[in-house]
Amino acid sequence: MRCRKCTEQAIINMRQHKLALCKRHYVEWIQEQTQRFIEKYEMFTPQDRVLVAVSGGKDSLALWDVLLSLGYQADGMYIHLGINYTDGESYSDESLQKAQTFVETHWPDARLHVVDVAARYGAPLPQAARISNRGRGKPCSVCGLVKRHVMNRVAREGEYAALATGHNLDDEVAVLMSNLLHWQTGYQARQAPTLPSSQLGLAKKVKPFCRFYERETAAYALVQGIDYVYEECPHSVGSKTIHYKEWLNQLERESPGAKLQFYLCFLQAKKEGNLFPQFQDQVTLQACGRCGQPTSAPGLCAFCRLWDRVTHTQVLEPATTGQMPESKNT
Ligand code: SF4
Ligand code: ZN
Ligand code: ZN
Repeated sequence: MRCRKCTEQAIINMRQHKLALCKRHYVEWIQEQTQRFIEKYEMFTPQDRVLVAVSGGKDSLALWDVLLSLGYQADGMYIHLGINYTDGESYSDESLQKAQTFVETHWPDARLHVVDVAARYGAPLPQAARISNRGRGKPCSVCGLVKRHVMNRVAREGEYAALATGHNLDDEVAVLMSNLLHWQTGYQARQAPTLPSSQLGLAKKVKPFCRFYERETAAYALVQGIDYVYEECPHSVGSKTIHYKEWLNQLERESPGAKLQFYLCFLQAKKEGNLFPQFQDQVTLQACGRCGQPTSAPGLCAFCRLWDRVTHTQVLEPATTGQMPESKNT
């Protein structure tokens, strides 16, 4: 297969975009699209300093690479959680090593903050979670809490304008699916490419890769020669998120573009206020010019427009037997 933009051999074919690209044009495409999403979702500007949460995995390292390539002032932050593989080898050490190697080989002037949870707070994450969970269950909820706290602290103390994470489309649709299956509307309301900072001290959070498929970020890391930790966190084995991703991939195989459509329609529904009562409140209402009922439409409300259409049709088709309403103003 040939590249859509030149005659070179394509290295990736994105069926949902009907787009095949060679190595050079693929790198350009990922960077241009990221820039587009940064602007579209009002994430940050070239004047802003951005903190990238780096895990040593493909998404976060690729994101950091793209932001630096686009000329953004992006520093990295790695949180060493003290997680080990089942054979006792350190997963966290290996991940940190990948992040440090990325800096040395790709961006030697870039700054990487490292926060060691055990050194700073007194215990590695798995131990803290065991205590907190009384020895039961996975450490993931405690881990999420710790990571959110540390990321926010470093972002605020460093006066960064935004905290960027490498969540890709597969991550976002898996979370969306999980929240839908459990009807966790509060979580759905807060799921967005950009979450503004709050006066209570929450840093602005952005996900510039939220519209890229996982295979696209992996392909970017590969062609840019970024070495990353291939293994997932050992605690992710058997997680619901992995199952949701498998189901969604099955759907995608049968219907290319389904995952992207699912996510974009969700964002559109949120934007239009069709999803949650709290978003409905933000819709500007005014009085209908005829019946005076509140309406978001300029001029006549949907009810009056309906009866206008009915009346018009009855004038054209006098044989119609439908009854008129008693009054258009009731
Ligand atoms: Fe933390 Fe690992 Fe669970 Fe992810 S899978 S939340 S990194 S413990
Ligand atoms: Zn090309
Ligand atoms: Zn506190």
